[in-house]
Amino acid sequence: MRKITCQEVLDQLWEYLDDEARAELCSEIEGHLTACSHCRVEVDSLRKTVLLYRSGDEAKTPIQLSDRLRAALETAYREHGSDD
Ligand SMILES: [Zn+2]
Repeated sequence: MRKITCQEVLDQLWEYLDDEARAELCSEIEGHLTACSHCRVEVDSLRKTVLLYRSGDEAKTPIQLSDRLRAALETAYREHGSDD
C-alpha cells in the first residue's frame, strides 16, 4: 500500500470525513492513523467538530472551502471545548 504523509492526511481530511470518500482513500488514511498519533488526534477532533457543525447547519460542508472552514471549525471546536 502507498504510504501517505501527515500533510496528505490533513489535505484530504475533509474528503475522508465525507460520506462519499473513496474506499481507497479511507484505507490509506486509516493505515497512516494506526502509525501516527498526531493525525489520529487531528482526525478525531475534526470529526467531532464536523458532527457538531452539521448538527447545527444542514448545509453540506463543501470540500472546496476546506481551508476557511477548517479554521472556522477549529475555532468553534476550541470554543465548544472550553466551556464543556
Ligand atoms: Zn500523520
